[in-house]
Amino acid sequence: MTSTLEHQTIDPHTQDFLDEAKASKFDFHSISIKAAGDERLKTAINSAVMRQYTGRQLRLLELPDSEGLRTLAGDIKGHALDYLDYYLVQTKQAVERNGGQVHFARTGEEAKRIIFDIIDKANCKSCIKSKSMVSEEIELAHALEARGMDVVETDLGEFIVQIDHDKPSHLVSPIVHKDRASIGKSFAEYFGTPFTDDPEKLTKQARVYLRDKFRRADFGMTGGNFVVAETGQVCVVENEGNARQSITTPRVLVSLIGIEKLVPRLADLAVMLKLLARSATGQPFTVYTNLFGGPQQEGEKDGPEEFHLVFLDNGRTEILGSEYRETLRCIRCGACLNACPIYRKIGGHAYGSIYPGPIGALITPLFQGLGNFKDLPQASSLCGACYEACPVKINIPKHLINMRKDIVSQHLNHPMERVIYRMWAWALKSPFLYGAISAMQKFELRRRAKKTGWVKSVPFPGSGWTQIRDMPAPAAKTFHEMWRGK
Ligand code: SF4
Repeated sequence: MTSTLEHQTIDPHTQDFLDEAKASKFDFHSISIKAAGDERLKTAINSAVMRQYTGRQLRLLELPDSEGLRTLAGDIKGHALDYLDYYLVQTKQAVERNGGQVHFARTGEEAKRIIFDIIDKANCKSCIKSKSMVSEEIELAHALEARGMDVVETDLGEFIVQIDHDKPSHLVSPIVHKDRASIGKSFAEYFGTPFTDDPEKLTKQARVYLRDKFRRADFGMTGGNFVVAETGQVCVVENEGNARQSITTPRVLVSLIGIEKLVPRLADLAVMLKLLARSATGQPFTVYTNLFGGPQQEGEKDGPEEFHLVFLDNGRTEILGSEYRETLRCIRCGACLNACPIYRKIGGHAYGSIYPGPIGALITPLFQGLGNFKDLPQASSLCGACYEACPVKINIPKHLINMRKDIVSQHLNHPMERVIYRMWAWALKSPFLYGAISAMQKFELRRRAKKTGWVKSVPFPGSGWTQIRDMPAPAAKTFHEMWRGK
């Protein structure tokens, strides 16, 4: 079977998928209802993220003062953001001292132009790419394919996403929505081999294929978990060794990184690394921690001939100047996704962006416009589990509430919703009206729950509540009645 990755132009299937995604209007409501009703999806997501969630809790217990460490990590990122202009210049000087080049891109399009230019000048044809959320953000792999480059995702999860023409659904584990059988089916179709869902055999198959790609590639692409300003080094953590191959084997290496990824010193990086893997996958450390920041030096056995660091803004400086600055501390560990009861019910694709979960509900509207994603800040029960899980202490619930306030003040919510809330506020101000409406509600809900004790459907405007679940009948006595001793 001919490999789609070997096509010199973008795969028509991928192009169709991209066109469709662009043309369709994001509709969180209908997508999340579909996702919440998909039992297979829920099982796949739950079994994967619960492992990471409980693993994180156990690993944090091993630290003498995990609370203090989280505060310190938040402060380090906060400080780096407060002095971002200074640290960006310091990084540029350090990378240049190491023999590399630094580029600044205001938008995704500008970043792509810079990278295309580097490729053209160096006459590169074949790219090995390690996992990077920021390159997903600007759809870099598809853009490179469209220019005739052979691009292969080398992280196993991302590779499966690529051969399946899919999208990642988690910040750390891109195929958390897939089970073994669906991966086996994808491999059988892609490689034209007999079906197997044995993880070892599938991994071996991917390894043989990717090894060959590693040998031939002349262009390496990475993202970066952190950039250390004082040394100009990029830090990439991983478990498979594929990023290390992307860094060391091709003759040209480009790291595309958001400007918010800076930490001032190597000592600060040590703090971040203590928390990142623990929060992400429940490991004390990832298997590989790569630190690099320039072309191959004399006496070194491997490394690229050319190294370029491309810093991407793409809306980040606007966030920096807003009340949502704190969201830029995010180290994309995915802990808030694993902790979130909503994410665990609907998965990542329902968020309509490559940044799902609680942090995605904040940064997607910030990056792509609140008007386009006004449902996302509502996709939270505000239980606070995300805040508790976050290694850099981003107060996600507080920002979600503020964003809901923005939706109201910018009149982005539905006019009917505004009318209902006004009426509700008016009723709440009058004890008589409040009591009368509550009595009517109780009467109607008890009537509906008469046979089974459960309300199967609630009338408008509360109908959404019973769309995917039943509701228990109201208690025999209300809190007010108990309070009055009735
Ligand atoms: S918001 Fe916090 S918990 Fe969520 S991905 Fe970012 S750093 Fe991790």
